[in-house]
Amino acid sequence: MLPGLRAIVGAPQVLTGAQTAGYSVDWTGRFRGEAAAVVRPADTEQVAAVLRLCTEAGVPVVPQGGNTGLVGGGVPLHGELVLSLTRLNRLGQADPDSRQVTAGAGVTLAQAAAADPDLDLGIRIGSQDSATVGGAIATNAGGTRVLRHGPMRAQLRGVEAVLADGSVVEHLSGPVKDNTGYDYGSLLAGSEGTLAVLTRARLQLVPRAAQLCTVLAGLSGPAEVHDMAQRAVREVPGLLSAEYFTQTGLDILTSRAGLARPLPRPAPAYLLLEADGPAALADLAELTGEAMVAVGETAAERSRLWACRDRLPEAAAFFGTPIKLDVSVPAAQWVRLATSAAQLVAAADPGALVVTFGHVADGNVHVNIVPAGPADGRHEDAVLSFVAGLGGSISAEHGIGALRAPWLGLARSPAEQDLFARIRSALDPAGTLNPHVLPR
Ligand SMILES: Cc1cc2nc3c(=O)[nH]c(=O)nc-3n(C[C@H](O)[C@H](O)[C@H](O)COP(=O)(O)OP(=O)(O)OC[C@H]3O[C@@H](n4cnc5c(N)ncnc54)[C@H](O)[C@@H]3O)c2cc1C
Repeated sequence: MLPGLRAIVGAPQVLTGAQTAGYSVDWTGRFRGEAAAVVRPADTEQVAAVLRLCTEAGVPVVPQGGNTGLVGGGVPLHGELVLSLTRLNRLGQADPDSRQVTAGAGVTLAQAAAADPDLDLGIRIGSQDSATVGGAIATNAGGTRVLRHGPMRAQLRGVEAVLADGSVVEHLSGPVKDNTGYDYGSLLAGSEGTLAVLTRARLQLVPRAAQLCTVLAGLSGPAEVHDMAQRAVREVPGLLSAEYFTQTGLDILTSRAGLARPLPRPAPAYLLLEADGPAALADLAELTGEAMVAVGETAAERSRLWACRDRLPEAAAFFGTPIKLDVSVPAAQWVRLATSAAQLVAAADPGALVVTFGHVADGNVHVNIVPAGPADGRHEDAVLSFVAGLGGSISAEHGIGALRAPWLGLARSPAEQDLFARIRSALDPAGTLNPHVLPR
């Protein structure tokens, strides 16, 4: 097998043994495996040849981009071969008429966002500098601008992908209106590397924000956060982001990560709002009224406020390896979710640390837990069953991956799971791609 792989990509691009360590553990440190080998193809043809060889030899493959995924889907938990796509890093020139660009799967989101000085990528996530276009499509990444531009799937105008048998499909010309059969780009968005390997994507870009204003409000609790965020969506036309967090996470960042306190007094809950345009400051000032706020207009002021939100994924990790849950509920249930999440975990594991934050306008809450008791599924059971009971999603952004799979039945019926399995076996009958991600 190794000689065949070396013949395709060149010997230096086939890593084995200790060289594979960085590819075998995820960002949180929770998911750790051992790769049979790491293969780093340079282009679509090499990806196709590697997949053909692996399928013929019955070797399972885990596609990997920036390895910032949070559900263990991009690491070789069962000794798979890692197919690293980071060398597929060609970024085309943005087309000013269509405002689109074609990017290799290994281009980072930050690079794609910088493709044109007047245009921007509609996606903003905290892992922007490492997460790749391929990984963001495969997880249908969300982030802090979904309320304005939608998730990664909404940025897609076409894809190039390689199926497990090595066949290449390509549809990259990018017309906005295109009803010529199945939209397989949409199907691959959120498929977590189980249906095909993405090699290129045609992305819709958006006008670059020119007059950003950021406001952080300290509020009385989730109900006031929700109410103000709902009003912001209706009353602030330039609104880009509405982010929620609590004093627990902020205290950790100020005491452990050296962040300055953003407001004169602590508050039970915070809402970070960002808007663009000449009226952004006035609109946000009118919305927040008498609330305790900090305003960021310059880039330095804004990034000081954003640090309080962007660094929250690191907060729980100061105390141990976190379980990262990522759930969403219908808007009317968001306050119940935000007020109950920590209580549900406390009932299951009284000594656990819980840090919550999220994208309030999308009904999304990230629940980061450092267990005190055994990490035996009790934390997931408590939160995910509650969310399912509210009609929500047990994975809003991060995907199902390897370890959320046992709870998929809370969110998807047997008939839906059967459809998933049929799609999967049609595209990858040998079961080469990410066999341990999503139930087969
Ligand atoms: C600090 C931090 C903040 C984050 N914030 C957010 C956030 O706000 N919103 C959000 O949605 N996510 C967030 N994430 C999660 C993560 O960054 C995203 O899921 C991201 O899209 C993963 O991209 P990646 O290139 O790192 O993919 P990887 O981690 O390498 O892979 C993720 C999944 O995609 C598959 N995959 C990767 N590349 C390909 C490909 N080319 N073809 C087919 N399958 C592929 C893998 O097999 C795996 O199942 C955050 C992560 C961190 C560490």
